[in-house]
Amino acid sequence: MNELFTQSPPRLGNQYLDDRFLRALLARLLPPEVLADIEPGLTAMGALAGEELYELQQRDRLNEPRLTQWDPWGNRIDEIELTPLWQRAAVLAAEHGLVAIPYEQRHGRYARLHQFALVYLFHPSSDVYTCPLAMTDGAARTLLASGNKALIDRALPRLTSRDPAQAWTSGQWMTETTGGSDVGRSQTRAVPQADGRWRLYGKKWFTSAVTSQMALTLARPEGNGPGGSGLALFYLETHNPDGSLNGIRVERLKDKLGTRKVPTAELFLDGALAEAVMGTSNGTRHIEPMLRITRAWNSVTAAAFMRRALALARAYAEEREAFGAKLAQLPLHRETLADLEAETRAATALAFELVALMGREEANEINDGQRALLRLLTPVTKLLTAKQALAAVSEAIEAFGGAGYIEDTGLPVLLRDTQVLSIWEGTTNVLALDALLRADVVAGLRAWQARVQTAVANVPAELAEPAARALGALEHAAAWAAAETDPRRRQAGARRFAFTLGRALEAALLIEHARWALERGVDAAGAVAAARRFARAPLDLLAGTDSDDTAPLID
Ligand SMILES: Cc1cc2nc3c(=O)[nH]c(=O)nc-3n(C[C@H](O)[C@H](O)[C@H](O)COP(=O)(O)OP(=O)(O)OC[C@H]3O[C@@H](n4cnc5c(N)ncnc54)[C@H](O)[C@@H]3O)c2cc1C
Repeated sequence: MNELFTQSPPRLGNQYLDDRFLRALLARLLPPEVLADIEPGLTAMGALAGEELYELQQRDRLNEPRLTQWDPWGNRIDEIELTPLWQRAAVLAAEHGLVAIPYEQRHGRYARLHQFALVYLFHPSSDVYTCPLAMTDGAARTLLASGNKALIDRALPRLTSRDPAQAWTSGQWMTETTGGSDVGRSQTRAVPQADGRWRLYGKKWFTSAVTSQMALTLARPEGNGPGGSGLALFYLETHNPDGSLNGIRVERLKDKLGTRKVPTAELFLDGALAEAVMGTSNGTRHIEPMLRITRAWNSVTAAAFMRRALALARAYAEEREAFGAKLAQLPLHRETLADLEAETRAATALAFELVALMGREEANEINDGQRALLRLLTPVTKLLTAKQALAAVSEAIEAFGGAGYIEDTGLPVLLRDTQVLSIWEGTTNVLALDALLRADVVAGLRAWQARVQTAVANVPAELAEPAARALGALEHAAAWAAAETDPRRRQAGARRFAFTLGRALEAALLIEHARWALERGVDAAGAVAAARRFARAPLDLLAGTDSDDTAPLID
């Protein structure tokens, strides 16, 4: 009798050494001495991500955080037990300085690139432990921007510690039942105390990683008016010195589609003791540094999920046979993987463009044009990479056939976890409006055009057509932004505008990379192919659209 066939699974290797594009990108963006200095750390993280953490992730698959609200004697305790992988991830994150690096500033303006290269490698094997890390980084940056010395002295050493026993993480509690997009409607009240502190009362509807030691949150001081300007930014520690919760009840953990290892809770603040971070109003403005940071984390982790899904799909294509050949040899399957590779490179290039500019800003090595670009880049990169990740991870799962749909392959969770990236830290629509209405579109667009023109200047003949396509899409977006003055039509087009800006810049960045790769002979054929393929995919999403046909479809 024939032996029954069993399929060998895809295997991951060192996720840094195997990532041709990331390595070339870092070689282009970093001075050689910086790359040489950080490469041992990247190699170690690549090994952890492809080996120890990846294996633990598979073993830990069925574990989820558990909330125990009561002890046997009837005391309310609201204790949350984290999964084994999260406990390990917390130690690794501190030791590798995933939050600390940009605050240590060892490599000046390259510190953010260093940090986010590590985050990119760590993220897909961390069960989204990057969620609390992002908020921790955001809290550190927000406190620094606030200038509140007492809070900086108290919390910053903890938030940026490399000692797992000392390190804190932070939550970001904004969303209430009234809305996450329109947080100006928040109902949480802040009542002043005789000692200058405040007590907070209200319900926070989504609070991720509620096991953090501190949080930044919004509440309305009594007597303040409505809207975001009537809210103030508060700092609180989740536990009292005796270990009890600080006026906080954990009502329940959310039963979520994905990110199920992240303990996202509904909280009731029942007199939580808090300190005002920066005055008693304009909280939504004061928390902006937090959002800028978490949106960058979102962008890098989106690209990281794409790379992981593709790495697995490519490994599987080398194992699986159909119609007498490995999948990796079937022309149409190869085409699918090549499309995914180009899309993944584009998202990665855009995310690291954002990160590189953040690093420049924090090192005070940024000019006005770059600052205007950064302001527009943050929402556009977040919204575009999240959508790219969703499409790419879904396609990569299909590349496994039925196996991709089966839970204990560890593949479906990738898609579920990716879905959140377009929702939290601002939905696609909200960020598109932010890009169009709030960011300084005129200065931002000018800087965007300058950046694209620099990237595609003096390209060799094989990159001329992609360059023309990138410029054409961008020109159309700029013309639309200048000509479309009707406020309703402008809002309706915001998402297509943002996608067009983003995809045009992605194409330009791949072209810039390809020109460098040709000069250096580093993965030149791959880099040129990625630029050409990506530029042939739709870049201009404003073309041929008409918001006049919306009403008959919706009303
Ligand atoms: C897993 C998870 C964890 C989370 N963790 C946290 C956390 O730790 N802290 C926190 O504060 N929040 C957290 N959130 C909440 C998240 O930030 C919000 O869900 C998100 O901001 C959207 O808010 P909402 O759910 O109230 O939706 P709404 O604001 O009600 O939006 C509903 C829909 O309307 C659209 N919309 C809204 N306004 C406009 C507009 N002007 N024009 C066009 N479309 C619009 C949105 O795009 C969306 O599609 C988390 C969410 C999830 C899913």
